[in-house]
Amino acid sequence: MNPPPPRDADFPFGATHASAEFILRSSDGTNHVDFFVHKLILSMTSPFYKTMFTLPPPSTPPPPGPQSVDIERIVDGVQYVVLPVSEDAETTLHFLHHCYPYNNPPPTDPPILRKLLRVLHKFDMMDRLSHHVNTLIAFLARERPATAFAIAHLFKEKLGPAARDAAYLSLRRTSAQITQEQAALAHDDTELQHAFNRLIRYRQSCTSCARSTADNVNRISCYDVPGSMEKDWCSCPAYSTGYKPGRGIERYPMWVRDFMEGCKEVLEETPHPDMMLDARLYILPVKTAAGSGCARCRVTVDGLPLFGARLAKKVALALEGVTFGIAYERMRYQLACEMELSEE
Ligand SMILES: [Zn+2]
Repeated sequence: MNPPPPRDADFPFGATHASAEFILRSSDGTNHVDFFVHKLILSMTSPFYKTMFTLPPPSTPPPPGPQSVDIERIVDGVQYVVLPVSEDAETTLHFLHHCYPYNNPPPTDPPILRKLLRVLHKFDMMDRLSHHVNTLIAFLARERPATAFAIAHLFKEKLGPAARDAAYLSLRRTSAQITQEQAALAHDDTELQHAFNRLIRYRQSCTSCARSTADNVNRISCYDVPGSMEKDWCSCPAYSTGYKPGRGIERYPMWVRDFMEGCKEVLEETPHPDMMLDARLYILPVKTAAGSGCARCRVTVDGLPLFGARLAKKVALALEGVTFGIAYERMRYQLACEMELSEE
């Protein structure tokens, strides 16, 4: 039985394009779709196609074979050269949407996004479309940060910073949510599974870093810790740090300690500093202080949100130091150093 004849792509890549010069023929098994495209547009976006179009035609015709049967197609008296590609129709369509100036929604399906990045990488288009490609990763990262990380990590030479941003965003998710994302991806895909394992190790390092930072009150100035200045001391239960006066924070109210314990608990599951700004963490300590009947605590508890924000900033700074230990982070570090130098 003969394979079905190629089908024409839908608008705008169908045969209605009078100005098109050649055909990209996608392949899903024996189903082929013909996309009518322009040399100029592909040359502008892909160095691969640019080189191909500027090469002189071969002096001898290619030997006959299954591929060469259909290397030309005539539509309404116009002859088109056919270039077979190994990608399927959906990937080819997304690829062309990135070459042509149409306003199209980004692919949100991870396998499609991965195929698209693979073809953009294959045709050497990652650098030219870097802003666009980074936006695609960031778009996916809003809903599925771990998946976005895993896909970007596969192209880490080009998408390192986007991978790192997605990994950081994943700290807002619980381990159970990360496991869910992992389960939704193909299990037989060892490359993606490897990337997920890398992310899980990163998250573990972040958890222990965030937890120990949020627990260390002496990294914080006593002006920031509510009720820790000697003039604010009262007869309410207080947490003693064992520090001598003048050398650090000696004591601070139990409701500050309660708040810090709450933070540690939240960071254990979701080690992102923003999680420490969640209003629910403040309800109990504020109730304790306000309901204590202590005039001083009622005043000093007003400083708790500012303390929480500063503690979150400390955690964010500490997390900057947690790395994957791979090349793109060295790039990021060099960039940060250069920026610091230029500010001086
Ligand atoms: Zn008090």
